[in-house]
Amino acid sequence: MKYDFLIVGAGLFGATCCRELTKKGYKCLVIDKRDHVAGNVYTKEVEGVIVHVYGAHIFHTSDKGVWDYVNSFAHFNDYINTPIADYHGERYHLPFNMNTFRELWGVQTAEDAKAIIDRQVKAAGITEPKNLEEQAISMVGTDIYQKLIKGYTEKQWGRDCKDLPSFIIKRLPLRFTFDNNYFNDPYQGIPVGGYTQIVNEMLCGADVELGVDFIENRRSLSARADRIIYTGQIDRLFGYKLGKLEYRSLKFETEVLDVSDYQGNAVVNYTAREVPYTRIIEHKHFEFGKQKKTVVTREYPKTWEAGDEPYYPVNDEVNNDLAARYARLAEEEGMIVGGRLADYKYYDMDKVILSALNLTQKL
Ligand code: FAD
Repeated sequence: MKYDFLIVGAGLFGATCCRELTKKGYKCLVIDKRDHVAGNVYTKEVEGVIVHVYGAHIFHTSDKGVWDYVNSFAHFNDYINTPIADYHGERYHLPFNMNTFRELWGVQTAEDAKAIIDRQVKAAGITEPKNLEEQAISMVGTDIYQKLIKGYTEKQWGRDCKDLPSFIIKRLPLRFTFDNNYFNDPYQGIPVGGYTQIVNEMLCGADVELGVDFIENRRSLSARADRIIYTGQIDRLFGYKLGKLEYRSLKFETEVLDVSDYQGNAVVNYTAREVPYTRIIEHKHFEFGKQKKTVVTREYPKTWEAGDEPYYPVNDEVNNDLAARYARLAEEEGMIVGGRLADYKYYDMDKVILSALNLTQKL
């Protein structure tokens, strides 16, 4: 059968396009090279616990329309992300707020916290930051940088902060209230039962084929639909003919533990460079679970090599420029592309949904 649209990628972008186009009466075929739908928001049940297979996913948005949209597919709980940082066994609240400052220096008032930070910033005497280290110290002082930023950032990027460009950290928000809510958005939560159900619901009415790579079967797949929406890597779509884009990858190690609670919080960041992972996720806490066992995942940053999952784009000038040239190529060839890999942008879930809704409105 001939489809109106072939959608390459059953992640949130492809699934949102599918939902909207199917609603308009178009016949869609959705394919994914993975053996499951939902892309990086894929969740599955392990020992009764909903596990975020590709890293912790917390839905947060300032857009009421997007919030209502996702709530039409699942019930969201009132989870608020309040991560904890572990630095050589010392525990600190995140994001940087009065609780963090009290734990660092024993201060109780905003004035005292500001005075310490100002003193450290002045003592560093950095007027024109030449690298990420100098940039961070010039904004938050030495203690916060040394204990909570340095090791974590170096693990994430695989390089010393002194060798990283200053633009990576544009802002380091400091909150002078006792507020541990990581996000500023008014809407936040976790879909009870996980994200996969949302994507399954979005794909209703379309045909779905898994374990199928578009690039390897381009000719036969293209013949099956009038139009194609591609959500994979943009450089791969064009056989890397303008050059290769860079990514950062991750390795996840998940284990079931025979205890009801491992760390008392969904997210604990390990900020010392000597600890090889950046965070431990204890999945049950996303849904306030009371199961007898628990499931934890250690997240290790990794240099991306061919065959690894390209989790994060490296949005420096060179890569952004290359991605823009690929985008122009796609436009010239009349290809419809979108999502985090094809746009080469770090999109949160709400932004990816918005972007897909905008696209399908135009279509
Ligand atoms: P993807 O989910 O990557 O989907 C693309 C799909 O296309 C994949 O399934 C892939 O297999 C498939 N594909 C690619 N190429 C081909 C091909 N050639 N043939 C067939 N199929 C192909 N956002 C938040 O809002 N909150 C969070 O807390 C949050 N945490 C995150 C944590 C991590 C570790 C990561 C990596 C991201 C996080 N995000 C978070 C972002 C969120 O994951 C993305 O916004 C969302 O998954 C993007 O959806 P997408 O459809 O664009 O991409």
